Order: sequence, then structure tokens, then C-alpha cells
Amino acid sequence: MPNFKIAIIGAGPAGYFTAQALQSAQTDELTFSIDMIERLPTMWGLVRSGVAPDHPKIKTVAKVFEKVAAEPGFRLFGNVELGRDISIDALADGYDAVVLCTGSSVGKKLGIPGEDLPGSLSAAEFVPWYNGHPDFTSIPVNLAGATAVVIGAGNVAMDCARMLALDPSELDPTDTADHAIAAFKASSIRKVFITGRRGVEHAAFTAPELRELPKLEHTDVRIDPREVSEAHERAVAEHGEALEKHLASNLEAWRLIADHPVSGRDREMEFRFLSTPLEIKGEGKVEEVIFGINKVEGGKVVATGETYSIPCSLVISAIGYEAAPIAGVTFDRGRIANNEGRIGGTNMYTVGWAKRGPSGVIGTNKSDASDVVKLLVEDLKSPKSGIDITDLLDASHEIVTQAGWSAINQAEVAQGEPLGKPRVKEVDWAALLSTAKKG
Ligand code: NAP
Repeated sequence: MPNFKIAIIGAGPAGYFTAQALQSAQTDELTFSIDMIERLPTMWGLVRSGVAPDHPKIKTVAKVFEKVAAEPGFRLFGNVELGRDISIDALADGYDAVVLCTGSSVGKKLGIPGEDLPGSLSAAEFVPWYNGHPDFTSIPVNLAGATAVVIGAGNVAMDCARMLALDPSELDPTDTADHAIAAFKASSIRKVFITGRRGVEHAAFTAPELRELPKLEHTDVRIDPREVSEAHERAVAEHGEALEKHLASNLEAWRLIADHPVSGRDREMEFRFLSTPLEIKGEGKVEEVIFGINKVEGGKVVATGETYSIPCSLVISAIGYEAAPIAGVTFDRGRIANNEGRIGGTNMYTVGWAKRGPSGVIGTNKSDASDVVKLLVEDLKSPKSGIDITDLLDASHEIVTQAGWSAINQAEVAQGEPLGKPRVKEVDWAALLSTAKKG
């Protein structure tokens, strides 16, 4: 019975769904040995370090990942970095196929003056900071001023704005990193603007995220009702009365937000649309953002030439992500160059954000993985008598195995239990490795 050795790089949703698709593709005539390789000592990728801590239901998918990891033929190699500890060429030589599920971890740049001033951050830094990613614990997040501006009208911008605008006591029963909870408790930020460069009707937020805003207990959410009415009129003028489901649902959610009475709460979130960031200004630190005012003309967003300013001390840009480079792999417009997941002329494949760019929800990676695994299986010929990954790694290398990761996972959950939290995240790399050794 042919057994093929597959290396999956990246222990995030795309990686686990790829492993699951491989496991499901097994038959009496075809089996897989799966080695999952992850740079961090912690697993689950964006489910751990991306998903907002106040959205714990989304994280329940981790149970599926652990089931996949418990299947025979699955091995985990955490704390193993591609390019540093092991080369992509060695993996491609040794394995029948290599699947790159390395995501998109680099925040896109606005490309405007002042973007690099202290106080201006990318969501690619802010999100892993509050989620306890060990590489981001010490990034400077300036919460000393009263106002923050979040740039971008997608769900990541929404997560960032909510985290800044919630009453921090709401984060106590979550797995937000301890350092971030402490910082949010000491924060002076009371007003958070979320800005989109196009109209309300063009925003990338999804309806469930919008619908939770009027339910926020300690935060008033503001949008000018005229912006919502005008967006509705423009949408109907462009598409007719029978609007596409996603748009109709979003516009209805906006109407609920606009109609929801604000009640003078201490904390506020305010949406500003048709606002293009032109410059971040300040003497040695962020002090204001200058926006160009746009209008929609004939279905197109155009600049009016007018500007306005929002004084603030913190700017988070949440305008999308690009994949981080990997030596020996070709990239194209922020993604790994690929043809439906196949990396041309190699036995390598890609799944998830690294393949298609930063789009879709966690579950999107399941169908993505299943499509790519079909192609991978079609391409398989006869198994290589490849070397084992442990032959490629330095003998002294501290690998975080599945047992090691389970030890970390269990320790975190046990620490959270008496505090009514799903877990208390360990954020120190050395401490994580030390706990993993107990596994
Ligand atoms: P996104 O949905 O693509 O939104 C990016 C936003 O940035 C858009 O509003 C875009 O505006 C704006 N933008 C891009 N370049 C800009 C620029 N130069 N200046 C100003 N604005 C700019 O991306 P995302 O928010 O990073 O989310 C990534 C994916 O993760 C999405 O599929 C999202 O739904 C998903 N996600 C889901 C959840 C959830 O389910 N709860 C949570 C977080 C993320 P234009 O449209 O004008 O380009």
C-alpha cells in the first residue's frame, strides 16, 4: 500500500484543513504520513493570534484541529523555522509533496507621509500584540491619548476598533494576553474612529460583525444616518431595488446602527466613510491624520479636493496583508505564485492566505484545502524513499512535538480555569519551550 510523505508548513487553519483533507483522501490503496512544521512553539495560527478574543465561538474550530492532530500518521514539529532550521529544498527533496500554509503576516503599507511615526501601527502588529503572539509582546502601543483612528473598513479594522473601544473589564473573561488587558485598563482612549475610503455600501465588514455593534454594553456607536441613507440610495440607483443579499444585509445592519440611540456612554466608536488618509502628522509622534474627502459619482469614488483632520495619538492601519517572503519561493502580488495551489514545476503546493491572499473566513480554508489536496493526489506517482525530517534538523534542536504543544495547551487552560477564562496565554518563547519539554 503506497504511503506518501507530506510536509505541511504552517500550523494555522490552512495547515490543519490540509491535513484533514489528506486524511479524508486516504483509502485502502493510499495513505499519508503528515509532518506539520511550525515556526512558533504554539499552534492554530490565526485562531490563536488573529481571531478577536471577544469572539470565542470562532475559536472552537481548534477542537477540529486537535482531532486532526490525534489521527495516526500525523506528527508535529513546532519551533522549526523554514530557512533557519530547515531548507525548503531539503523538504521538497525528502517529501513527496510540500504544502505551504504560511499565511499573510505582513501588514500592507498605506504609503503616506508619517506612516512610520511612533503611534502608527499596522493591525499586523496590534492584533498579535493583544493576542499574545510571543514576537509582538513588546511592541509600543500608545494608549495614552484620548483618540485612536483605525484605517480600513474590513473585519480586521472592526476587531481592532472593538478591542480599543470596549470597556476592558469585558476582556477579563477572554484569552486576551495579560499585558494587553493591563494596557487597555490603563488606556485613556475613549473615542475610536473607523475610516473607509469608499462609501458605506462598499465596506468589507460582514453583517454579523455589524449587528453586534448596537449590542455593545459600554460603547456608543455612531454613524451619520445620512451616510447610510445616501449609501442605500446609491446602491439602489446602481443595482436596482433587489439588492444582492450581502449588500442588503449590510445596509440593514447599518440602518440598525444609525437608528440605535447613543446614550452618552464614556466610550465611543464612530464610522467615517469616503475618507482617504493622506498624511499622518506630528512632532516625533502621531498627532493627527489628514483625510481627503471623497464622493461617489456615477458609481465611482472620486476625491473632492477637500480635507479634514482627526487629532489622535494612535493610528492602526488595517488595510490588508501580504505574505512574508520565503527564500526559494516566488511571490506575486503579495501571494505565493501558484496555479490553483500548484507551485509550477515543483512538488510544492500552497493553501490559504499564502495562496489566495487575505480573504475569507476560517472555514474558507477548508474548501480551499480540499481543492488543492485533490490536485496534489492527482499529481502523486510513486512514493519516494525520502529521509526523515529528524535527519534534517540539528540533533540538539528543541522540537515542540504534539505532546509538547498539548502540555502548553493544558497548562494555559488550567491557569485560566480559576479565573473564568478559556486560558491564560504564555507569551514568553523560553517559557513556552520549557513547558513543552514536560509533554
Ligand atoms: P479586507 O476585508 O480586505 O478589508 C480591507 C479594507 O482596507 C477595505 O476596506 C479596503 O478598502 C481598505 N484599504 C485597502 N487599502 C487601503 C488604503 N490604501 N487606504 C485605505 N483603505 C484601504 O481585509 P481585512 O479586514 O484585513 O480582513 C481579511 C479577511 O479576514 C477578510 O476576508 C475578513 O472578512 C476576514 N476576517 C473575518 C473576521 C470574522 O469573521 N469575524 C474577522 C477578521 C477578519 P477598499 O475596499 O476600498 O479597497
